[in-house]
Amino acid sequence: MCRVTSYWDATSTSDLPPECATWPKSCDVLIIGAGFTGLVAAYYLGKAGLDVVICEQHTVAYGASGRNGGQLLGGWPGDLSAMRKWLGWEMAQALWEISEEALGRVPRLVKQASIHCDLQAVGHLEAAGGYAAARALQEELSLLQAIATHSYAWWDRARVLKKVGTQAYVGGLYDPSGLAFHPKKYVLGLAQAAARENVRLYQSTPVHAVGRLNSGRFRIHTQRGSVESDAVVLATNAYAPRFAHYVKARLRSVYSAQVLVQLDNPEQLPRTMPTVSDRQASYNYYRRVGDRGLLFGGRAVPAELRMGHYPSVVEQLRHVFPNVTDPRVLYQWSGRIALSSDYMPHLRQLPNGVWTASGYTGHGAALSTQMGWLLSQAVLHGRLCDQVRLLDSLPWRHWALRRETLNF
Ligand SMILES: Cc1cc2nc3c(=O)[nH]c(=O)nc-3n(C[C@H](O)[C@H](O)[C@H](O)COP(=O)(O)OP(=O)(O)OC[C@H]3O[C@@H](n4cnc5c(N)ncnc54)[C@H](O)[C@@H]3O)c2cc1C
Repeated sequence: MCRVTSYWDATSTSDLPPECATWPKSCDVLIIGAGFTGLVAAYYLGKAGLDVVICEQHTVAYGASGRNGGQLLGGWPGDLSAMRKWLGWEMAQALWEISEEALGRVPRLVKQASIHCDLQAVGHLEAAGGYAAARALQEELSLLQAIATHSYAWWDRARVLKKVGTQAYVGGLYDPSGLAFHPKKYVLGLAQAAARENVRLYQSTPVHAVGRLNSGRFRIHTQRGSVESDAVVLATNAYAPRFAHYVKARLRSVYSAQVLVQLDNPEQLPRTMPTVSDRQASYNYYRRVGDRGLLFGGRAVPAELRMGHYPSVVEQLRHVFPNVTDPRVLYQWSGRIALSSDYMPHLRQLPNGVWTASGYTGHGAALSTQMGWLLSQAVLHGRLCDQVRLLDSLPWRHWALRRETLNF
């Protein structure tokens, strides 16, 4: 029977740290949102000895961090060639280094914080359905070969067929550094690690407003009461609340739906395929899960959990894998993705002094871990951190004034 729930929810076993019984009057840092970004920031700030409170409107991992495809990808959502045209080669390279650091930070953090999240080194393929997409990816490959610290490769149609089991693509760009994990186990592990650093977590605690006092401190109004803090981090990405006007105006929230299908015959598809995303209009992404599972997702459906939209994801699955004749859907779910006006994630200090990172454009599983760490550095050292300064200096346009600067 198919369940309208996430496979990750159904298969995560880690417990949450106990809820705090008392409500604080004051803290050093208040973090809004308990997904990857907020929990990673909380963990590092707690480790640095700060008194940290994290408020989550629903439950830990309620947002995209508990609903994603579990593909840890290198790079940025936009093409390096477009970043070079837009920002110049030097800045594009500096940004690229941040993304490489992001992919390296996840396994380091997993080890440091003893998180069990089924992390696997499987590689990632960005597949081209047609020749125009293939040319764009080959241009990427030539740039990446000049700067990346590991070797990307071009897979032709025959290699894609052998490794992924589909003839839907003319080729693809293979990144051997791509990882896969169980996102819900990771996020629950982060919550436990943060609790060990004395971070206080409050679930079912929506933040309604953030104000600034004459003293320079913040007063944060929540459903449980108000609290004062020296710093505030907004880590709500596509789930940004109404009061975050500045951020909301620069993001567009779209839905992505996923299905977990059980293969009748596990040999129908290669057992050790890399994680895959493609450049079709529906932006499919998929990976093998367990012995018989295929997790297949696509963007964008207009509303959450509308049953009517899942068939289109299954249709795409059938198109990519026509040999999977009767896919048995066990789980289906969806979540919100935050598209940035320029398809680039942004980290910055908002005009009211709040630090934030968002706009991961479907590419945030690894980048949000790096951004969480950078937010902790921003709170501790402000713009003294080079990466914070670089990211905070990038223009971030209002969605309505958006120009198509990057290919996506
Ligand atoms: C279906 C889907 C598939 C994806 N697949 C991939 C993938 O395979 N690889 C990849 O790299 N990326 C993927 N992504 C993107 C990735 O999951 C996100 O970029 C990442 O999880 C963002 O983490 P976050 O912590 O910033 O935001 P979230 O995890 O969304 O957390 C934000 C939290 O803020 C809380 N919140 C909002 N308002 C308030 C308030 N007022 N008070 C308190 N709390 C509040 C929300 O409840 C939420 O829990 C996918 C996303 C989706 C939806």
